[in-house]
Amino acid sequence: MNTGASISPHGGTLISRVLRGVIREAALERARDLPGIQLSPASVSDLELIAVGAFSPLAGFMGQADYQSVVETMHLANGLVWSLPITLPAEKGTTDHIGEGDEIVLYEEDRLLGLMTVEEKFGYDKVREAHEVFRTTEEAHPGVARLYAQGDVLLGGPVTLLNRPKDRSFIEFRHDPAQARRMFAERGWRRIVGFQTRNPIHRAHEYIQKSALEIVDGLFLHPLVGETGPDDVPADVRIRSYQAILRDYYPPERVILGVFPATMRYAGPREAIFHAICRKNYGCTHFIVGRDHAGVGDYYGTYDAQLIFDEFRPEEIGITPLFFEHAFYCKKCGTVVTAKTCPHDREEHVYLSGTQVRAMLARGEAPPPEFTRPEVAQILIQGYQSSNAEEA
Ligand SMILES: [Zn+2]
Repeated sequence: MNTGASISPHGGTLISRVLRGVIREAALERARDLPGIQLSPASVSDLELIAVGAFSPLAGFMGQADYQSVVETMHLANGLVWSLPITLPAEKGTTDHIGEGDEIVLYEEDRLLGLMTVEEKFGYDKVREAHEVFRTTEEAHPGVARLYAQGDVLLGGPVTLLNRPKDRSFIEFRHDPAQARRMFAERGWRRIVGFQTRNPIHRAHEYIQKSALEIVDGLFLHPLVGETGPDDVPADVRIRSYQAILRDYYPPERVILGVFPATMRYAGPREAIFHAICRKNYGCTHFIVGRDHAGVGDYYGTYDAQLIFDEFRPEEIGITPLFFEHAFYCKKCGTVVTAKTCPHDREEHVYLSGTQVRAMLARGEAPPPEFTRPEVAQILIQGYQSSNAEEA
């Protein structure tokens, strides 16, 4: 087996806060007498990702020093790069009985998920966070809207996970960072490129993934399946479409499909850094950053998610970003190209906007095969038709 050097997790140690065996039993026993709070879906997701090490070096929800430092400087208080606040918001009224130093239970509805030692309880400035993190204070931005709607106090402190969240869909693809690292090692991969997506794979994405795969050993296709927006294709339809394209068009020994159960924040450039660092924790050495990565509307400039990497020294991030242009099929070139590789006019290019594609699929129409593989189009059309049937 190849035991070659694998990339270090962010901060040097893969965090594990998942309790097992007798330690877990003892924690469950203790939990009976402890006060508890309900987590939002976003906090449920954060808790699991902290516990499995996807957010290494975080071992809990951020305290005030880390929170302030991340919001203002994109670094943790200890100087390590970290671009998004990972906080546990709570309503004032529901936390009056919780004091600093208390141990509390974290619930997802009736399900006990974990324990937290509340080291800090502090107020924060939502407008300032919105301005710094999302570069806008407009409530029309989905990330800002969620921030404004959440509780007014933040609880900071280390967590442990006793039970996994309720949603275990796509279980065969839920590889924790330690498992993903093991799978890469078993395949003898030393250079692994991570691909973040919340969309189906069209020919353009296939081209980008395969271009990257030419220079590394393996592709970790890692779609986000946590909370996404109303315009995003439902996760189960996307997963079926990934399975179809991987089966027919990718060498199986070069690709691993995993799911990333994170909440989409739409923080554009800051989220691109965050997504890269998380994938480093999963063991990726390279990460694909497209134009407008994790963007929404026109809140961010086309290249902002790529340019932000220049604000850090490469060794501060650790994982190597690979920047890609938009790709499309060119009739003259007879292949998928980008503005970097094709000299022809726009009329030679097969280009459809997201809105156009959605409209076609909803009508039961397959996009041209130069745009979407027919196997993928079929699954997307079925997905649209069944989701419309549910709404009717
Ligand atoms: Zn061309």
